[in-house]
Amino acid sequence: MDVSVVGIIGAGQMGAGVAQVAAQAGLRVILNDVSEQLCLRGLDGLERNLDRMIQRGRFKADERDRIIRRIETSANLEDLRGVDFVIEAVVEQEEAKIQLFQKLDRICPPEVIFASNTSSISITRMGARTTRADRFIGMHFMNPVPAMRLVEIIRGLATSQETYEATRALAERLGKNTMTAEDFPGFIVNRILLPMINEAIYTLYEGVGGVMDIDTAMKLGTNQPMGPLELADLIGLDTCLAIMEVMHRVFGDDKYRPCPLLKKYVDAGYLGRKAGRGFYTYDAQGTPIPPLAPAR
Ligand code: NAD
Repeated sequence: MDVSVVGIIGAGQMGAGVAQVAAQAGLRVILNDVSEQLCLRGLDGLERNLDRMIQRGRFKADERDRIIRRIETSANLEDLRGVDFVIEAVVEQEEAKIQLFQKLDRICPPEVIFASNTSSISITRMGARTTRADRFIGMHFMNPVPAMRLVEIIRGLATSQETYEATRALAERLGKNTMTAEDFPGFIVNRILLPMINEAIYTLYEGVGGVMDIDTAMKLGTNQPMGPLELADLIGLDTCLAIMEVMHRVFGDDKYRPCPLLKKYVDAGYLGRKAGRGFYTYDAQGTPIPPLAPAR
């Protein structure tokens, strides 16, 4: 299958990252969000990321301009009519994703593959609500997309072998390694990672340690590059909560019960790095300012 134009829906941290790696790989991209302003915010973050890469000598300024020129933004879904492959990266809410895919189903020709970057939601169930369950697949990128090497591929029950192979080929073209997970909530990466993050939040909630104690313990004590609370802020606390809720509801097992403190932070709008405040606060450059006292 020949892919030259990719439609990316959701210009948040993940969608913008996927747009960047696709354009870097020479693909044309149409980046969609609910408003032109949100599309431009995503593009702006992407440009800043490319500038940082130039400063680190990863590529030259003229290359940056070529990459940017491959990306078109549009708040109109109809503009995705001519794309060869769709990657969805909107909020982690099943109904929002399904409504979007049903609209796209009417817009895109039947041969176009729909890939969801969902962190936890059933690929089988979303695919079944479209007319192309055989061309529906999970393509789970890691955050930050340009830096992380993995794409986790999730086949729904009806996903065809052809769809799987085309998706794997696309991920490899974007410079990523792939592995495949069965379609169960959280797949492999988040099934293991999110309970660890949730437990770190319980550890804070129960006063076993402060934010810095917990992150320092896990960084230096278990050789992780980021502490779990810092990582939760990077993922987005709304996304962490949504993933825990899916695992809790679908497995029906209380070991996935989201920590009340996580819920409280989301209620407060402390969504992590993207909101400027989560377990840490962030200055205008996105540098974390450590909390002075345990935030309970
Ligand atoms: P985000 O909040 O940064 O961005 C989501 C974007 O989707 C927003 O810009 C929002 O305006 C847009 N959006 C919402 N509804 C839309 C619609 N109907 N049409 C077009 N755009 C719409 O979230 P994110 O962190 O980029 O996460 C996006 C998806 O990627 C989620 O499914 C999440 O689970 C998944 N994911 C996230 C991470 C992570 O670390 N954050 C990692 C892997 C996968």
